[in-house]
Amino acid sequence: MASLFWGKRPYDIQGTDTIFLNKIKENMLFQYQNCMEYRNLIESKGWNEERIRDLKSIHEIPFIPTLYLKHHKMDSLPEKKMMTRATSSGTSGNKSDIGYDFTTLWRALGMSVSMGKYHKMWSLKPCRYVILGYERTSNGLGKRDAEEKAVAKTAYAFTYLAPAKSRIYALKLVNGEYVLNLKEIKESLIKYSKGKTPVRIMGFPFHAFWLLTQMKEEGIICHLPKGSVIAFGGGWKQYYTQQADKETMYQLIEEVLGIPRERCWEYFGAVEHPILYCTCKNNHFHVPIYSRVLIRDVDTFEPVANGTTGLVNLVTPMIRSAPVLSVMTDDLGILHDSSECGCGIKTPYLEILGRVGMEDIVTCAAGAEQLLKSAVMEEQK
Ligand SMILES: [Zn+2]
Repeated sequence: MASLFWGKRPYDIQGTDTIFLNKIKENMLFQYQNCMEYRNLIESKGWNEERIRDLKSIHEIPFIPTLYLKHHKMDSLPEKKMMTRATSSGTSGNKSDIGYDFTTLWRALGMSVSMGKYHKMWSLKPCRYVILGYERTSNGLGKRDAEEKAVAKTAYAFTYLAPAKSRIYALKLVNGEYVLNLKEIKESLIKYSKGKTPVRIMGFPFHAFWLLTQMKEEGIICHLPKGSVIAFGGGWKQYYTQQADKETMYQLIEEVLGIPRERCWEYFGAVEHPILYCTCKNNHFHVPIYSRVLIRDVDTFEPVANGTTGLVNLVTPMIRSAPVLSVMTDDLGILHDSSECGCGIKTPYLEILGRVGMEDIVTCAAGAEQLLKSAVMEEQK
């Protein structure tokens, strides 16, 4: 049987419809048999296997709201089977805590390999990494919370997509404390722009925007060598604050660093739905074969047509160790037909508009602002 997670074509939705449906059914049965809470939920909805006839009926799968997961730990396997646990980047102290078993991680690896190949992220050419985030040291990480650790881990994993000639971090660990290191970052970028080695920059859009604006104001224009890349990752919410400024951001990157927009990679994922969504050359998040996205009416929860705004419901059979095959986020989004993009990828793409409750976004932005303010004060000293 063809493989869903280790397949070579991450956007071949039609070719994988059947296997996706089978995996969903298999996963649902597994959750039903192994997670009591999920079983109760399913039974309260009067579920039986016949309800899921084809892909059109996947909206009938009882979904779990991400808000619920922030208050309840839901596992479908005993703790000793979990290879790792991940927590979401909740800002209010309530975080989803999801355990991943070997099967789930193996599938995630297949997905990462396939997506990395498709988007040409893997390279054998050595490059220099500039991480606009926390440094990971040989003895682990400093005393930070789980969220920051997760971000640092992602950034560190990113530095393995191509051999590293060097790595520098915007937040450097000095005597157990993180210090902002923008002066060195700027000086290094200037130095790198005179060489031939490609540079890979990674960070939150918010941090990059701040750095590039500052560089432009200071008249620092340093076009990086051919093959350089800038990548934005992290949780969902990092996108909201920059959403309106996306165009400005691409222009700024091209102007200051000379990186064209098709070399600006963006990706997102969530611990409750760890599917990798990467932007196409037109900077759109097409839905890969590992998941299906449903948009639902905010009041009735009924699925709505493409092009209509609603709540984002994410469906994937990837996670075996938790009953998160269908999660309802509190994000508002629109699913667009692939023809609206024209990049050649044949699957619809998701546009995230923001969160239903604005509280989280405000808290997150305030957190980042706080950090940046203290950094500015530091520079002025
Ligand atoms: Zn596209």
